[in-house]
Amino acid sequence: MKNEDLFVYQKNAMRLLINSIEKNKLAHAYLLDAEAENVACDIVFYIVKKLLCRKPNAPCMNCADCKSIDSKTHLNFIYIEPNDDLIKKEQIETLIHDFSMSSFDNRAQIYLIKDADKMNLSAQNALLKFLEEPNPNHYAFLTTTNYHKLLDTIVSRCQLIHLNPIPKHYLIDKLVDCGIDLDISYVVSFLTSDLEKAMKYIEEGKITNFLNVAIKIVDKDLKNKDPFVEYYRNRVLFLEEKDKNYHRFFLDILILIYQELLNRQIGEKPQYFNELLDNFTNLNLEKKEIIRKLELLNTYQERFNYYVNLDLQYTSLFSKL
Ligand SMILES: [Zn+2]
Repeated sequence: MKNEDLFVYQKNAMRLLINSIEKNKLAHAYLLDAEAENVACDIVFYIVKKLLCRKPNAPCMNCADCKSIDSKTHLNFIYIEPNDDLIKKEQIETLIHDFSMSSFDNRAQIYLIKDADKMNLSAQNALLKFLEEPNPNHYAFLTTTNYHKLLDTIVSRCQLIHLNPIPKHYLIDKLVDCGIDLDISYVVSFLTSDLEKAMKYIEEGKITNFLNVAIKIVDKDLKNKDPFVEYYRNRVLFLEEKDKNYHRFFLDILILIYQELLNRQIGEKPQYFNELLDNFTNLNLEKKEIIRKLELLNTYQERFNYYVNLDLQYTSLFSKL
């Protein structure tokens, strides 16, 4: 997220941290809990520059300090992230070792642990010891999307900052700027609020597959044909998908399409799926019937959080749709 956007969408966190720096009251450890990890990191990079940039308008974003923070090569700044989805004890030990030598110019020494909840237990214990004996010159920033996965003792050593959720339109606008189709951008905003992850999902190509099946299913439904047939044709796509997010997401798409159909029925202009809705030939579903379908889909969506027999769930859903 660009700096100017951080001041709009994460105003509280930015104000809190900047005020603390200006009043010389920065805490020694912060834990940033965010929906989108990269937004939390963007905040930390800004704050690290604010602490280390020596220009009068710090952070200037252009000096050697600012640039080496961006490239993660600044001597006073250590950046740690998971390796193969895991942060190991050795990574924390290296950090502690590097920070044991005092700063070469007496400036602050700062470390950022991205995805801190990916630390295994021994890494967390090593970090805890380090946090328990804070050096006045050290500042820690941990980011996470799930702080409950961290040891309570770590959380209590940090000042916890909950970041604001990112508005859907922000992600949608960014994706459209990157050349992604508006409807695809809209549906992917239900999977994640993180731009990087959204691009990854889109590149995987499954989103388009699920969207196409959902469109065919609604089309069959509107023509009073059995939507189950369409599911059965694409059964492999569903049964081979192990990521529960995609199953919830598929129902999201169905919900979104029926919602837009409902919007049309009540005379509101749909924001999304315009072209798609124009292609549906029979739009005469009763309002009551659309609402029933929406309720049904919502109920089934809950089930995908824990239910394992996918085939049974889908068969049961489509027999009732
Ligand atoms: Zn600078």
